[in-house]
Amino acid sequence: MELSSLCVKENATQQQVHPHILPIYASSSYVFEDIEDSIEVFEGKKSGYVYSRYGNPTVDSVNEKIRRMESIEVHDDTFAAMTSSGMSAISTLLSTLLNSGDAVLTQANIYGGSSELLYKFYSEKGIKIVIDDFSNLNEVKSTLEKNPSIKLIFLETPTNPTLDCVDLRAIASLSKDYGVTTMVDNTFCTPLIQRPLGLGIDFVIHSTTKYLNGHGNSIAGAIIGHSSHPLKNKILENLRLLGSTCNPWDAWLTHNGLKTLALRMKAHSENSLMLAEALIDHPKIGKINHLGIAHHPYHDIASKQMSMYGGMMSFEVGNSIDDVKNFVNNLRFITQAPTLGDVDTLILHPATSSHRNIDREVRLKYGISDTLVRVSVGIEAAEDIIADVIQALNKI
Ligand code: PLP
Repeated sequence: MELSSLCVKENATQQQVHPHILPIYASSSYVFEDIEDSIEVFEGKKSGYVYSRYGNPTVDSVNEKIRRMESIEVHDDTFAAMTSSGMSAISTLLSTLLNSGDAVLTQANIYGGSSELLYKFYSEKGIKIVIDDFSNLNEVKSTLEKNPSIKLIFLETPTNPTLDCVDLRAIASLSKDYGVTTMVDNTFCTPLIQRPLGLGIDFVIHSTTKYLNGHGNSIAGAIIGHSSHPLKNKILENLRLLGSTCNPWDAWLTHNGLKTLALRMKAHSENSLMLAEALIDHPKIGKINHLGIAHHPYHDIASKQMSMYGGMMSFEVGNSIDDVKNFVNNLRFITQAPTLGDVDTLILHPATSSHRNIDREVRLKYGISDTLVRVSVGIEAAEDIIADVIQALNKI
């Protein structure tokens, strides 16, 4: 062989190796033993990897881990597929479950990106968006009764940033009466805290970018559902056709993060409760949204369906946006960043960032005042987090 050809040719080891840690299969395609092998794999008579958008061993390992975590209480077969982002998990499901003329029933306070997707993309494709107050089950029932075109209920619980909760078991049972599919964004809780499939929900999606990864170094998502759902194969086919499958590098980073998920979720939950308790009587703090506080309006629902209260909280600071600016700019330990679920504590001012495009009246109606800040409480020493908040409050 010419030296130049030697440079080009693959020289992958033929040895059978048994790595302790999941390898990253950074290969876009897979070789066949011979043409007969190729024909059998393409015809689906034999399983095998062909092309990484269709399937990749690294991604499949992580799919299986996430599937098992979300399915602990589920008795039928389930499936999971990692996606290129949380948004692609949502859009692939919506595109498969809804057709022009259908309606989707959802909340006004779901993640801003999800509601933009619904209004800017799906409503232009002939899908009607119906909004309801999910704390009022009679209202939801009457909406389902009046709108037979509703084919899907798309929920998030707890919501961002006020932590409103929806009773998932009640909604799952109601949806079955009307033949409506249900889908829950479980990003805030992770399966460590809440498992919607076990409560009767049809599909779960994640932005694994957040807690499942936990280290802020990948963008990815996941869809988990029951294998018996008639559209399961169509969902997986659409994922491949839309090019929304996850790449092995982001799956691998997520896999690393998942190993410490139980430890992290416990530390996030404990630290956020300690911060909430430290702020309850502070004169410069207004309303506090933390599900562990007994007078939070959704404390009972959270206690029923979540095993911990999670790391997310929000609270009102001072009396004006200037007070909030002073507070945030004086934080020395906590970081201002527009994400959540990382190991370090992050703060965000919804009125000037995530919720800036929402009409002020609507925003206020949903409890997102000008002085509300959202904190994704990290796993550092609680003393450091609390001390930083207190010293910054003293500056306003
Ligand atoms: N769902 C929730 C609750 C989110 O907070 C986000 C992103 O912030 C998403 C979905 C979208 O996820 P991604 O950014 O991974 O596409």
